[in-house]
Amino acid sequence: LETLIAVERDISAAKEHARQLEQARIAAEEGARAKADFLATMSHEIRTPMNGVIGMAQLLRDSGLNEEQELYAGAILSSADTLLALINDVLDVSKMDAEGVSLSCTDFDPRACFEDTMRLLKAQAEAKGLDLLLDIKERVPAQLHGDDRRIRQILLNLAGNAIKFTEHGQVQVTLDAEPAGQGTGLVFSVTDTGIGIPREMLSKVFERFSQADAAISRRFGGTGLGLAISRRLAEAMGGSISVTSDLGLGSCFTVRLHLDPPRAEPAVAPAATP
Ligand code: ADP
Repeated sequence: LETLIAVERDISAAKEHARQLEQARIAAEEGARAKADFLATMSHEIRTPMNGVIGMAQLLRDSGLNEEQELYAGAILSSADTLLALINDVLDVSKMDAEGVSLSCTDFDPRACFEDTMRLLKAQAEAKGLDLLLDIKERVPAQLHGDDRRIRQILLNLAGNAIKFTEHGQVQVTLDAEPAGQGTGLVFSVTDTGIGIPREMLSKVFERFSQADAAISRRFGGTGLGLAISRRLAEAMGGSISVTSDLGLGSCFTVRLHLDPPRAEPAVAPAATP
């Protein structure tokens, strides 16, 4: 009888332990959701007035100021832009935490996607005297099915970083494709001749708010979230992102994505009537 009572006591202790674990799990989940909700709400609330500041600073800058005033208006604009970029990144990350990454897939032309995005970066590269090169391999298909907005976002992050952390030389983007099961593996790399990343930081740069060198990063600006977001996006697209780098010589980021073939039938030319 004593053994029976001891066993029963063990069982109730185990049950109590399991109940406590479950309660802790629910509390942790609720905490994470509350944190993500708070960040998302705050980011929204800050974004609206920030857009107002940017709009007004733009008007002010273009309103025929003298040289000194123009400098001040430019400084307001650039700080506001930096703050808005940070808010957008925080909003993006908190949304991904709360809801996972939501992809919005359509048929798209990968070549146009890369060419358009590179055009956006041209002025930035030219301002620093850098060559911005794009090499699209023959075998890249004309149509794929995927979220091209998110692919642009990854490319903007990587190529934007490459330009930011390079003082001389070039930024080279290469787009290639490889067969991947039922779909297509889209592989692209962004190679620069910039400052490089110390070996011990290579595995950390994809972590949130991680910056290889705090002093350098402060000088170049940035949020420390771009690579964390890019990695989440690449993984959501069945892919990965990796980096190799030589300190002082440059870095190379490579992204692999798994995309589906286009859904729509290719347009067929009407048969010629005899
Ligand atoms: P940030 O907004 O600071 O650029 P990221 O997440 O995009 O944030 O990058 C994290 C850090 O990784 C950067 O602060 C920088 O230290 C390093 N890094 C990223 N890309 C490069 C690059 N092309 N060359 C050198 N360092 C880089």
